[in-house]
Amino acid sequence: MKKLRIAVDGPSGAGKSELAKALARELGCIYVDTGALYRAVGLNAARLGLSKDDGAGIAASLEGLRVSIKRQEGEQRIFIGDEDVSGLIRTPDISAWASVVSALPQVRAFLGGLQRDAAARGNVIMDGRDIGTVIMPDADVKIFLTARAEVRAERRRKQDMDKGRTDVPPLEEYLREMQERDSRDSRREHAPAVAAADAAVLDNSDIDFEHTVEKALGIIRERTAGK
Ligand code: C5P
Repeated sequence: MKKLRIAVDGPSGAGKSELAKALARELGCIYVDTGALYRAVGLNAARLGLSKDDGAGIAASLEGLRVSIKRQEGEQRIFIGDEDVSGLIRTPDISAWASVVSALPQVRAFLGGLQRDAAARGNVIMDGRDIGTVIMPDADVKIFLTARAEVRAERRRKQDMDKGRTDVPPLEEYLREMQERDSRDSRREHAPAVAAADAAVLDNSDIDFEHTVEKALGIIRERTAGK
């Protein structure tokens, strides 16, 4: 089959990026993490000292801003101008910023072209919130990966502990931040994070990673059979 295009959407902490990376390896596709783009715009706004409720200021911050995706040794790196910000965008503060800036239509329009270019090249697996609904509405396969909020919060906390962080906050704090972000992402007016009508919903609350990959591959096989 030519130019396979797979959309993986879902709330934060469901394991979209791990799943999408594993599927990309298995299927020989390019993996595009679209959340990183919103994070880069959020980092830029934070650096400018803007306030999170200053929508006009955030929209103005896009003027002259250059955000790009590069690949190094098969891994996606994200750049602002010539600066590699891939590490700097992975903080709780920038997660919150990304969620705020992503609600603005100007930001979505600003990043839409880049994502559509990647989609048009094909052989791609993109993860995000609106890939199956807005960016690739005609994707060959759409998976909406989800899990109960408590499970997602626990996974995020464990990831931080595994990174060796010594100041890991209690579970309730992860859960609160996750619920705030879920609610902002799913209730926003522009491109809310909802499953596309034709997406296969995969809830991995009670299954492990290997099993999640297996189920996703089953969905892909089923949806691309005969194509
Ligand atoms: O996936 P990740 O947690 O890196 O995304 C950060 C934030 O960017 C999300 O909370 C969401 O608000 C926003 N986002 C989005 N649309 C996408 C990907 C991410 O609105 N396609």
